[in-house]
Amino acid sequence: MKAELGFLRDIFISNCYPVKKVDQVFETYKPNIDERKEPEEEDQSLSVSVPYVQGFSEKFQTIMKNEGIKVVFMKRRTLENELCNLKPPKGRMERENVVYMVDCKVCGKSYIGETAQRFADRSDQHQRCINSKNRKNGFYMHIKKSLGRKHKNRGTAAMHWEGVTYLDSEIHWRRRKIKESLYINAYDASAEVRGLMNLEKGIKVDACWNEFNEAFRSEAEIVRSRQLKKLGLRTLGPRPRTRRRRSIK
Ligand SMILES: [Zn+2]
Repeated sequence: MKAELGFLRDIFISNCYPVKKVDQVFETYKPNIDERKEPEEEDQSLSVSVPYVQGFSEKFQTIMKNEGIKVVFMKRRTLENELCNLKPPKGRMERENVVYMVDCKVCGKSYIGETAQRFADRSDQHQRCINSKNRKNGFYMHIKKSLGRKHKNRGTAAMHWEGVTYLDSEIHWRRRKIKESLYINAYDASAEVRGLMNLEKGIKVDACWNEFNEAFRSEAEIVRSRQLKKLGLRTLGPRPRTRRRRSIK
């Protein structure tokens, strides 16, 4: 420590700090460590790890202790240990940082959204918006505008929340937003969204991306059908046609 302080003192002085001032600082400096404390001695004792055998292991441990050897018992590899240690898989509703798609059970129209939260929380928010008749919510407006009573009678249950499909995952907020918009545009290239429940197109996507819409959509449909198959579901209702006449310029 003293050597280090001496070294630092030299550096300060050689960098034109006044000697008097430097000495004053170094004399009053009290290191914030307890010098009396001895460094912890490393555990130099020998140890051996063996499987535990009831009735024998305790005696073995005592004998080895007398010889200065520490005995550590390993967890036995049993079927119970192997099978019961498995953590339950994270539910699909718990996924975070995703671009998701939710279908309407009545007409098959979809909603594309993105969220950093668990999807379960995001879907709760959407359902609260439907119940509170929030006109800024795409799901609510879809139910409200739909002809016939099927949508209105079902309310939040008109949407297939559990059948959510994840088109993409992206932890970075801006990139997730861009992906959401690319998917919205791929499913509905019209200036105003008609083929989806979304009220807006999301952030502006350059028209050059329209070239990839077909590819994005078919890739997303493959991903979706794979996920729905695992759930024992098929895509609900006819997929609404994409209007391509009024593409974004
Ligand atoms: Zn619908």
